[in-house]
Amino acid sequence: MAAIDTGRVDHVRIEAAVAELLAAIGEDAARPGLVDTPKRVAAAYQDFFGGLSVDPLSHLADTIELADGELGELVLVRDIDFRSMCEHHLLPFVGVAHLAYIPGKKIVGLGKLPRVVDTLASRPQVQERLTEEIADALDAGLEPRGVLVVLDASHTCVTARGVRQGKSTTVTLATRGILREPVQRAEVMALIGSAGTVA
Ligand code: ZN
Repeated sequence: MAAIDTGRVDHVRIEAAVAELLAAIGEDAARPGLVDTPKRVAAAYQDFFGGLSVDPLSHLADTIELADGELGELVLVRDIDFRSMCEHHLLPFVGVAHLAYIPGKKIVGLGKLPRVVDTLASRPQVQERLTEEIADALDAGLEPRGVLVVLDASHTCVTARGVRQGKSTTVTLATRGILREPVQRAEVMALIGSAGTVA
């Protein structure tokens, strides 16, 4: 059986660091409830940070060329679930992404778009940069006429610590090309706003 590719994530070092963290808060890392915790955290971090060793553009390599003169209209995929890790506190933020693009000469299978989000979200992030990086990946990979990305997420570093705003979410927007134009942008934002109204 081939070894699992863990990319840049070093499980042995994470396990040692987590055992040290537990000792540093005054816990007994050897007690039954905690003894396997370093291993579990290493596995979770593999999940949270595995995107560091994946190129998001690899998901957009397989495109479908539009026929000559065929002009693609708006493609909008709403409510893509994602989770990421805030790089300031190493606490998760969780929400939905809405991705829109107006094709140039090519389109891509719709199932590829959540993979782009997941790869870029599986890194230490701030939501603002994640939004921009998703827009850049769509722009570079699909060479569309316009891109619009909206993320709406709840940050546990806001809801569970510090100011403890349990219901607060953060919305970020990134646009490229003709979807920077206020009229076109407003049209897509209205379509995103009607998310959840389709039976
Ligand atoms: Zn944070």
